[in-house]
Amino acid sequence: MFINDPCGIFCILFTYFSIIYADYVVVRWIILHTMAESIWGAFNAVLFNIVILLLSISHFKAVVCDPGSIQLPQSRIDFSDINLDSGGDNADWTICTRCETYRPPRAHHCRICEKCIRRMDHHCPWINNCVGERNQKYFIQFLIYVGILAGHSIILIIFALVNSCVDCGLDVVVQQRIVTHCVILLLESTLFGIFSSAILFVQIQSIISDETSVEQVKKQGPYRPHKPKMALLTEVCGRQHPIMWLLPCSSTPKKFDTPLINYHI
Ligand SMILES: [Zn+2]
Ligand SMILES: [Zn+2]
Repeated sequence: MFINDPCGIFCILFTYFSIIYADYVVVRWIILHTMAESIWGAFNAVLFNIVILLLSISHFKAVVCDPGSIQLPQSRIDFSDINLDSGGDNADWTICTRCETYRPPRAHHCRICEKCIRRMDHHCPWINNCVGERNQKYFIQFLIYVGILAGHSIILIIFALVNSCVDCGLDVVVQQRIVTHCVILLLESTLFGIFSSAILFVQIQSIISDETSVEQVKKQGPYRPHKPKMALLTEVCGRQHPIMWLLPCSSTPKKFDTPLINYHI
């Protein structure tokens, strides 16, 4: 599934360019010049690249995973004599006039993807995809790794700037390059760090407050007790141990695999 959105394609290329540049500055200009002979040099280089690997896998999965699109019907549906408020299991289903199909509760239409997406959160240009039921976990992992990478970069930059002049055997030109690259990477890391942390906070907040379900309950009438926060997080991240939630290797729960076309006619 590839969405032909120029803004999304630009954001993806910009993301990968920023990651490659950060790796180049950290390894070539910080580690090689300030801690090449210490075990900390190798430790930081390996740690930095492990985070980049995890970030890239979670980002790739968030980009290519189907966020939970509603399949279009094979033939046109006649909506004229169907009353969706008639009760029954599918009373909460709504009609999307753009897709001309039925959609389950919490599904919304995305104008960029041109589809209805199950439990759609928002369309994110940074993954050129919707954040929905099936890829929200990878999107959150991506945000966490961007935050960790930005934090690690900032620590290494501060270390490099403090230590680069201690033994001034370095060429002036080399020192200027180190400082220039460090300042650019500091700006990049600060911006990406703040941006990803803010979105991560909103994402976690929306999961544990079960926002869309609350709106759903208001419409329906019968009170559905609040689910525990861990149960809500498990719905998004899977049933495995919470530590495993950080690894971009397991799939989302199969619990959502309900039939897509499941309405009364
Ligand atoms: Zn739709
Ligand atoms: Zn979308």
